[in-house]
Amino acid sequence: MNTTTRQELLAAFDMLMQPGRFKDYGPNGLQVEGKTQVCRMVSGVTASLALIEAAIDAQADAIFVHHGLFWRGQDGRVTGWMKQRLALLLAHDISLFAYHLPLDAHPELGNNAQLGLRLGLSASSCFGEQSLGFLGGRSDGGSFATAGDLARHIENTLKRPVTQVGPVHAAIKKIAWCSGGAQGYFEPAIAAGADAFITGEISEPQVHVAREMGVTFIACGHHASERYGAPAVASHVAAQFGLHHQFIDIDNPA
Ligand SMILES: [Zn+2]
Repeated sequence: MNTTTRQELLAAFDMLMQPGRFKDYGPNGLQVEGKTQVCRMVSGVTASLALIEAAIDAQADAIFVHHGLFWRGQDGRVTGWMKQRLALLLAHDISLFAYHLPLDAHPELGNNAQLGLRLGLSASSCFGEQSLGFLGGRSDGGSFATAGDLARHIENTLKRPVTQVGPVHAAIKKIAWCSGGAQGYFEPAIAAGADAFITGEISEPQVHVAREMGVTFIACGHHASERYGAPAVASHVAAQFGLHHQFIDIDNPA
C-alpha cells in the first residue's frame, strides 16, 4: 500500500472537483487538517460522529464526505455535537475533506451522474441554478409506461420506499433529477419539459405544483440519492495514488 501527502490529496480532489466554479453553502476542500501522510481513506455521505468513529476503527488517515462540518448560518461555536466530532478528528489526527455542490455536479463521478447510473438514466443536458439539475431519460432510449412504474423502479433500485405525487398513470419519457434537498429545482425541471422529477426531499408546496402542472415528483431520500458520489470520487483518487479506500454507509432514513 502506498502513501501520499495530505497536500497532494487536496490538489487531486480540487483538480477533479473544481470548487472555484461553484457558489456554495460552506467551504469545499480540506475542512480539518490531519497528519501529513495519508495511506488509508474512508468515504461517507456525512461527517457524522458515527462515520468518524467508524473511520477511526478502520484506521483511516483521511475522510472524504459530501456533507462536511461547516455551513453558512452556523453560529461558529465549538460546542455539543460540533465539539464531539472535531475532538475525535483532532485527537486521531484525521483529515476531513468535504465537497458539496462540486460533488453533486461532476459529470461522471458526482451524485447526479452516479444516481443516474444506478437508475439506468442518462443526461443529455443540465438545467437550473448553477446547472446542477440533470435532464435526460432512460439510457436505453425507452420510456416508463406509467409514473408508478418509474417509482417502483426507483424503490427496487435504492431499496427504500419513495414519495410520489402528481399523475400516476402518465407515461414518462423525459426525466429530470437532482440529488439531495433539491425540491426547489422542480419548477425549473417543469420549465425544461420534464415528465418527472426525482430528488431526495419533498416539501409541502411541491405536492400542489405536481398536481396542478401534471408533472410527477418523486422524493427518494436525501441520503439515498447522495450515497454514490463520495465513494466514486474517493475511489478514483485513491486509485491514482494507490491508497486504501473504503466507503462506510451510515444508514439514514431521511
Ligand atoms: Zn446533500
